[in-house]
Amino acid sequence: MKRPLVYKVDLTKIEGDGAFPCPNCGTTISPDDETENVYTIMETKFRKESLEELIIQCKCGSEIHLVGFLSS
Ligand SMILES: [Zn+2]
Repeated sequence: MKRPLVYKVDLTKIEGDGAFPCPNCGTTISPDDETENVYTIMETKFRKESLEELIIQCKCGSEIHLVGFLSS
């Protein structure tokens, strides 16, 4: 069976505006990009009103779990 590629990206370790390259294909992924041209949002997880985890899928097929959102 072929398993999807799953990566975890911690936003607290990313400098700048939060954009990062896809660990698989290198495409730049920006969490502020809502056009879904580069990636698709699969799932959002909230804990006490604040975003805890965002699961996105890059166009290359890899699944990326974004964690480390600033709690406000
Ligand atoms: Zn990719």
